[in-house]
Amino acid sequence: MSFDSLGLVPALLRALADYGYTQPTPIQLAAIPPAVAGHDLLAAAQTGTGKTAAFALPLLQKLSTSGQTMTRRPRALILTPTRELAAQVHENLRDYGKHVQVSATTIFGGVSMGPQINVLRRGVDIVIATPGRLMDHMQQRTLDLSGVETLILDEADRMLDMGFLPALKRILAAVPKKRQTLLFSATFPPAIKTLALEFMHNPREISVDTPNAVATLVSHQVHPVDAARKRDLLLHLLSVDSRRQSLVFSRTKHGADKLVTYLNASGLRTAAIHGNKSQNARTRALSDFKSGRVTVLVATDIAARGIDIDQLPIVINFDLPAVAEDYVHRIGRTGRAGMEGLAVSLVSHDESGLLHDIRKLLKQDIAINPVAGYEPSAPLRLDAGAPRPKQGGGGQRQQQRAPQRQPRQGKASTSARPNGYAAPAGRGDHAAGNQRRRPNQRPAAKA
Ligand code: AMP
Repeated sequence: MSFDSLGLVPALLRALADYGYTQPTPIQLAAIPPAVAGHDLLAAAQTGTGKTAAFALPLLQKLSTSGQTMTRRPRALILTPTRELAAQVHENLRDYGKHVQVSATTIFGGVSMGPQINVLRRGVDIVIATPGRLMDHMQQRTLDLSGVETLILDEADRMLDMGFLPALKRILAAVPKKRQTLLFSATFPPAIKTLALEFMHNPREISVDTPNAVATLVSHQVHPVDAARKRDLLLHLLSVDSRRQSLVFSRTKHGADKLVTYLNASGLRTAAIHGNKSQNARTRALSDFKSGRVTVLVATDIAARGIDIDQLPIVINFDLPAVAEDYVHRIGRTGRAGMEGLAVSLVSHDESGLLHDIRKLLKQDIAINPVAGYEPSAPLRLDAGAPRPKQGGGGQRQQQRAPQRQPRQGKASTSARPNGYAAPAGRGDHAAGNQRRRPNQRPAAKA
């Protein structure tokens, strides 16, 4: 199945062809036709599945083929949980929309409001915003939402996790009732269903039955290790190939900073990205990582949302996430769009319980391979009552996620690579068989 049959205009097809996208991913196949037809959508899709294009293409089509553009009343609003995801969506919109006349801007905190107000005054079609800063603009009446025809909620579950429900409700109440609403979420806790019932018009539910082919290309490995030796083991693993781009997850901001200091002192070019960093520092860390100036990026869960890096070969969990679903989000950073990936977790005895939760969520075993010289003094326990680290201590989460249904996750391979850490070459095509070029590697075209 090619993109031609999805009802997209030639200017968008041309942009997709420019980037070597030949076949839609399953979520694009399912979501684009009803979205182009104007329906509301409730779509289950994780990051890495091609979900951004699934909403961006119908949106660009609608805006470029109907109505006025560049007015002071934006015609579309896209809400994302984090600044990084907002920037990523913006970049994708610019790329997919390079042959159409549609403008977009981002609105998020951590940077001054002045330039954002100027862009809004000049007129823009699409606003991509995080809820907090959007509320600031609403309160200061610097943004007029009365022209919004399309509202998109990206990673809605994460927005709820971050405590944005009250903000979302106020924003939803402030946009016109007559509109199209597209809601994308990796999981569907009851609060999302309630939101959808309250604010959407007879939404089509999209769930793609084909397992997420992205995840099937990710190999998982656990290295049991004593907590006190994790840093040494991490350094050992990273030093195997110090030119390889590695994303390391830390549960806390403080822990991330400590790791960066340690790794930099050990000669690895390392940067951190987390919520206590200024927006400029976050943007710089990300672009240094993308350009290869730093090879190790240490991130906390929330800050990492929206990181989309071409062929990221490895994600290392320095500590396991406190909530099993975050493991799925973390490993979504590797094995993206058909590339192979490796997810490595350093697990100490006190994290055995978290590992149990993750295995249960993934419905699979994960290879447990001690690394010679770093074997733990006590084996991991893999039963339900296994120990868990104490909560708190700088975690970012404002509220714990309630138990919810399994994310739409395909079976992930448990195969260990023979040499452990050889960076997977960029083998393997996209889920849909594409040879692809990444749009967001190129300089922005427009908007
Ligand atoms: P997303 O889930 O939107 O973050 O997309 C994950 C990655 O897949 C991004 O790097 C996109 O550029 C890429 N992508 C999206 N759609 C396609 C497609 N049809 N073919 C190949 N790559 C794609």
